[in-house]
Amino acid sequence: MKPRILLIYTGGTIGMMANPNTGELQPLDFVYMHQQIPEIARLALEVIPISIAQPIDSSHMNPSHWVELVELIEHHEPHVDGFVILHGTDTMAYTASAISFMIQGLSKPIVFTGSQLPVGILRSDGKENILAALEIAGKKQADGNAALQEVAVFFQSKLFRGNRVSKISAHQFDAFDSPNYPILGVAGVDIKIHANQLLEQHAAGVTYSKTLDQRVGLVKLYPGINLEAYGSVFNPAVHRAVVIEAFGSGNTPNHEAFAKVLSDYVRQGGIILTISQCTSGSIQPGKYASGHLLAQLGAWNGTDLTTEAAVTKLMWYLGNHAHPSPAEFSLVVAGECA
Ligand code: ASP
Repeated sequence: MKPRILLIYTGGTIGMMANPNTGELQPLDFVYMHQQIPEIARLALEVIPISIAQPIDSSHMNPSHWVELVELIEHHEPHVDGFVILHGTDTMAYTASAISFMIQGLSKPIVFTGSQLPVGILRSDGKENILAALEIAGKKQADGNAALQEVAVFFQSKLFRGNRVSKISAHQFDAFDSPNYPILGVAGVDIKIHANQLLEQHAAGVTYSKTLDQRVGLVKLYPGINLEAYGSVFNPAVHRAVVIEAFGSGNTPNHEAFAKVLSDYVRQGGIILTISQCTSGSIQPGKYASGHLLAQLGAWNGTDLTTEAAVTKLMWYLGNHAHPSPAEFSLVVAGECA
């Protein structure tokens, strides 16, 4: 029997067409997009195409769309061998990260892909990306189990862990990278999956979580930043946690006004999660004197999480844990950090 793959369309450039009046790209109906790739019928797969209720440019993605995706996957999971999700590239890394936390223990692949040019355009990268993503999702091991059993992003011949990837280019076809984790596979002449890099699924089975706490803020530091102007960001009633993209290995300015905003926030129950604004490397709290402030304040250590994984892991964690603790948060749940 051919592997059955659910192909979920959420919108994004891949299915867009220029509005004849304005020239702007707008998401189109899935029927149009699907018609553009008749080659899908030639794959040794049974592909079942569906669409979310309202396909969108991924800039409009929000946690309610992630819940919609989880519900779709949960509903169809017993009847299919894997999932390919077509998604705009702009926020694909956020959605892939969120889904990796919301669906854990699934022994089937969930592969996100998209494109930099719409499929209707001759030079589009969309066709290749969809066809390879479908093949990867249908790939089996010798024992009949899925070759890939985690949430991944496939783009321009590379397969990445979904919660390790970031969009790095707005114009190159090679638009994604995961500097802190090796690629999971590559689509060359053959499709190769690097088994030693894959997540090990445990026998515990799949869990679906649909509760997210959106009260998560994000602040990127820069020289001269005036944190006092971020009053409502560092307000625990607005944000239960704030991700701080610190310098290098977790360094910050340490003058009084800066420290006071953070210490007031922590004193009132706010959580600070430190990640690095460098694209590779990890937080090392004791390395520099300028790294002491966040450590002294009890900031949680985001090690080598991407921004996308840090924000979505916090939303998932705070939505599902009544008594948050840094030790529990730091447990690796989906291969998201070292
Ligand atoms: N703005 C588009 C989106 O994210 C860009 C893309 O798909 O590449 O939906």
